[in-house]
Amino acid sequence: MERHLALVTTCLRKIDWAAVWDESSKSHRYARDIDIAFAGGTITYVGPRYPGSPDRVIEGAGRFVMPGLVNVHAHPQVQPIFKGIIEELGNPRFYMSGMYDVKRVFRGTGEASLAAAAVGYGELLLSGVTTVADQSGNYPGWLDQFAASGLRGYAGRTYSSASWYTDNGHELKYRWDETAGRRDFEDAVRLGEAAERHPCGRLSAMLAPDSLDTGSEELLRDSLAEAERRGWPFTVHCAESVIEFNEFTRKTGLTPVQWASSLGLLRPRTILGHCIFVDSHSWLHWHTRNDIRLIAESNACVAHCPNTFARYGQALEDFGSYRRAGINMALGTDTFPHNMLEEMRLAAIVARLAAEDIAAVSTGDIFHAATVGGADALGRRDIGRIAVGAKADLVVVDATSIGMRPMRDPLRSLIYTAADRAVSTVIIDGEIVVENGRVLTLDLDAAINTLEEAQRRAEATVPERDYAGRGGTDISPLSLKSIEFDA
Ligand SMILES: [Zn+2]
Repeated sequence: MERHLALVTTCLRKIDWAAVWDESSKSHRYARDIDIAFAGGTITYVGPRYPGSPDRVIEGAGRFVMPGLVNVHAHPQVQPIFKGIIEELGNPRFYMSGMYDVKRVFRGTGEASLAAAAVGYGELLLSGVTTVADQSGNYPGWLDQFAASGLRGYAGRTYSSASWYTDNGHELKYRWDETAGRRDFEDAVRLGEAAERHPCGRLSAMLAPDSLDTGSEELLRDSLAEAERRGWPFTVHCAESVIEFNEFTRKTGLTPVQWASSLGLLRPRTILGHCIFVDSHSWLHWHTRNDIRLIAESNACVAHCPNTFARYGQALEDFGSYRRAGINMALGTDTFPHNMLEEMRLAAIVARLAAEDIAAVSTGDIFHAATVGGADALGRRDIGRIAVGAKADLVVVDATSIGMRPMRDPLRSLIYTAADRAVSTVIIDGEIVVENGRVLTLDLDAAINTLEEAQRRAEATVPERDYAGRGGTDISPLSLKSIEFDA
């Protein structure tokens, strides 16, 4: 990004509705008929009638302006290729989880990574995400494309001491390779350093050992120590399946959360991926009731990604009780769609289903999680909010679109009805990256073509990777059977 742009002042003028940050109450508030100005990448004015003379004006009439959304958990390198394959693909013998066997055999090869990530980034931008914690394997071109997307990003190269496999579809096994885990950990540190040095100035580092059950004690402890030494966020998948829960209770007598706590992994800048299968979950009938309290007391964050789990019939029980216990809840999109607004809608609905209570969570709670919750988890006071001094990461919503009207409560209209269809402009670090609902920074048409081709190639070689030698449509049949017409 060219630095002379830092001199440009922009004013969003006479905005109909905005969600602005109120520091005294530490909460978002609606404001009507206001101006928001920013110089370069920083917000300089929030209030009625900006007194300066801006270089650029964006009209706010008929608009709702909110802070850019903060997504703390996504894997855009690998997940977009699974579209059309995994939505209904869980293994009942693994308590519906699909990640240990059936999903893995459809993985794309290396060259699909850039295209998949471009599609993921594009969808995130279109749904109003301005910061994403990207947890992916290392692949050529990652940081440059991440920067070119315009996103503000945390690059967490994933690594593990073990990989999952099964040779019968009902027993999960682990192939341990401590040397590879160590080597990839070192690579993750180097990648993090490169992210921090990237000239775009929007990339940061995080450490992301893959999962609690595939990391050795030593690797997980050393990763946390390295993250703390460098001031980087630390994230790991934790309590994400019944299989993982059973593995920990069998090996250690502790739940995944209790084991993570005993290792000292629960810290204020620790982001726990999912934490659905805590000891109080109704599927587990476990004898303790400590996990939610342990997370809350540690000030660790839970990255809640309801969509992919809800598709498998699984739910966090429930967002409201975690929040009331004092846990910092943040949101992520995990697999696909990379659509934060749909994720927010599901977070609200699934919480109420799980609690059997409409008051389990409010739309304001969900919005807080998708903005400030994520910012807190990343240790940031300058994102996820519209306030003077914060980054100019802004989402402009077309409040005149049919999905937003009748326009009585912008967040309810946006989350429960309009979603990404109403997002018109996205600004990150003061730069416009989405305009009129189009991504300006990435060639999404080219990326989706490449991804589609990669999916076809991956599916053709599924029998080589499946333990039972099955083909793609044996494992994941199409929604409807085909009909053949006589010629
Ligand atoms: Zn994940």
